[in-house]
Amino acid sequence: MFEKFDLSQELIGGIQKAGYKKPTSIQELVLPPAMNGKDILASAPTGTGKTAAFVLPAAQHLLDYPRTKPGFPRVLILSPTRELALQTGEHVKMLTSHTKIKSGVITGGVNYGSHSEILTSTTDILVATPGRLLDYIETEQFDSREIEILILDEADRMLDMGFADTINRIISEAQWRKQTMLFSATLEGAGVIRFANEVLNDPISVEAKPSRKEKAKIHQWINLADNKEHKYQLLLNILKQDEVKRAVIFANKRETVQTLSGKLLADEVPCAWLEGEMPQDKRNSAVARLRQERVNVLVATDVAARGLDIDDITHVINFDMPYKADIYLHRIGRTGRAGNKGTAISLVEAHDMLVIGKIERYMDEKIPRRIIQGLRPKNKESRVPLKKIKVKRSTAEKKAKAKKAKNKKVKKSAKK
Ligand code: AMP
Repeated sequence: MFEKFDLSQELIGGIQKAGYKKPTSIQELVLPPAMNGKDILASAPTGTGKTAAFVLPAAQHLLDYPRTKPGFPRVLILSPTRELALQTGEHVKMLTSHTKIKSGVITGGVNYGSHSEILTSTTDILVATPGRLLDYIETEQFDSREIEILILDEADRMLDMGFADTINRIISEAQWRKQTMLFSATLEGAGVIRFANEVLNDPISVEAKPSRKEKAKIHQWINLADNKEHKYQLLLNILKQDEVKRAVIFANKRETVQTLSGKLLADEVPCAWLEGEMPQDKRNSAVARLRQERVNVLVATDVAARGLDIDDITHVINFDMPYKADIYLHRIGRTGRAGNKGTAISLVEAHDMLVIGKIERYMDEKIPRRIIQGLRPKNKESRVPLKKIKVKRSTAEKKAKAKKAKNKKVKKSAKK
């Protein structure tokens, strides 16, 4: 199925090694124009297959126009976070494994010396976080004038994280580039569009929206709980079920991540944990432990889990509910990736009901409640029957409902 894109046999080999059978919708949309050298403006959240959508055309360009002399990277991929940069680097290595293309990753949080090989020997594709790369440009250890293709991955997040000036500096250095691709989870913020207008030249715009079918792959439910200890007992029970092969548990605070992972370990549930303040090597090893299946539970905060891309996460568990609906969607989107089934379970106390209402309105669907035998909630407040949970409606929604009711009445009286 990838054959139709006119990719070299070596790249098809890499695609087979990665196990991709057919292109995802964003790959279908991006590959043809990108392989023709067009600039791309793509709205594609993680999990859509966006990485291969930009790596494959860039790699094909390098194969079509082989380098004539050693030198600095010809393709630069900018990533917002260290974890994402490392994952993208692995993707690049996998997809180009049957070619002679050399790739490397530069991120902050590691020793400056550890990049000396990438900076002094020929690298074709470089994946980098903006801050550290700019350091190397400013100290003249890196030259971005040889960049032919520039890719800005998760541009919205890079802007949110305050990287605008840094990226602009890098972009202006990469002035001889032939092609620029900008990928962003959404194109809604005015900031991204303004930025895209500045850096892209007559781009092709594409959008990968997860289809309803893809959304439905995440099976969600709520377990009501009386208090934190009750939530913990529910969690232990869930983690012991056979179908929980790989779970990410979200907590809102760093302290909760620490106490929760400590308790799980004491209860003989092997787990890794991630929190924002951890040194980079510890973060890498926590992710590696989950990826290599040495543990099947990861406890994390939202910040720490940014950019995390681990396949086959079967369960996302909200030990704490997030404060906002979009964060809920972001969390649950870590499961049900690339055609797999996923389950998202929220452990909910009475005080979380407000945010549950918000999430249900945001998704326009009710999240079913479930009970685990032997762990029924006792607290009356958290046993509010489904029907009594009032979903607050906006004025427009209220008007639409009143209109619907009126129409119903009219129909009824017409029948009489
Ligand atoms: P991404 O959106 O690039 O982070 O990709 C999400 C996940 O989907 C990654 O684990 C990829 O390895 C996987 N993936 C990308 N393209 C395909 C494909 N065509 N078929 C199956 N899985 C894919």
